[in-house]
Amino acid sequence: MILGLTGGIGSGKSTVSKIFLSMGLKVFDADLIAKNILESDTTKEEIKERLGKEFVNLKDNSVEKNLLKTEVFNKPEKLKILNSIVHPKVLKIYKDLSSKYFQSHEIVIFDVPLLFEVNLEMYCNKVIVVDIGSELQIERIKRRDGINEELINKIVSNQISRDERNLKADIIIENNGTLEELEIKVKKIIYDIERGKI
Ligand code: ATP
Repeated sequence: MILGLTGGIGSGKSTVSKIFLSMGLKVFDADLIAKNILESDTTKEEIKERLGKEFVNLKDNSVEKNLLKTEVFNKPEKLKILNSIVHPKVLKIYKDLSSKYFQSHEIVIFDVPLLFEVNLEMYCNKVIVVDIGSELQIERIKRRDGINEELINKIVSNQISRDERNLKADIIIENNGTLEELEIKVKKIIYDIERGKI
């Protein structure tokens, strides 16, 4: 059984993922998968061809991540190209994982921040959304990343809205409380699924 895990920036997805990991569940982390894909030989060839040779280091053949980040941050058309190189490969990995686990009794987690944005919900049996109140969200991100409210609001406005996300959820974990409360909620979900209550 595949549980999709998503939520807005700073809602607590990684924290929930860690709880799942501590329970012995397999977590397939989209950020990690995308990072690995970026360093694969085929991706690097495509980057050189479609974005420029300067984005791959001549000496050690590694991706010039900071240069690439600045380029796509400043030029949306370049971001589109990079996404068109990386996203299909990430999706293919999740599709293959879905064939393996969709009918399985083992519970696995697809940790994908933009799960609904890329329509990955159809490859999950159920989708869990981590939800947080907007003020607390800003407070926690400020504390974690030290970035200002303007940038946070910009990132939030580039994701689907909180209401839309919650409407699409099968299960909502509200994360406005303590870490202990969060852990209890996460464990209860797995407990309920294992007993067929969800
Ligand atoms: P992103 O979308 O940026 O990857 P995320 O959804 O993975 O973020 P986390 O990094 O898990 O969010 O949480 C954001 C911050 O809030 C972290 O510093 C985390 O330690 C903290 N946090 C998460 N849940 C709680 C909680 N219940 N109580 C206090 N702090 C929390």
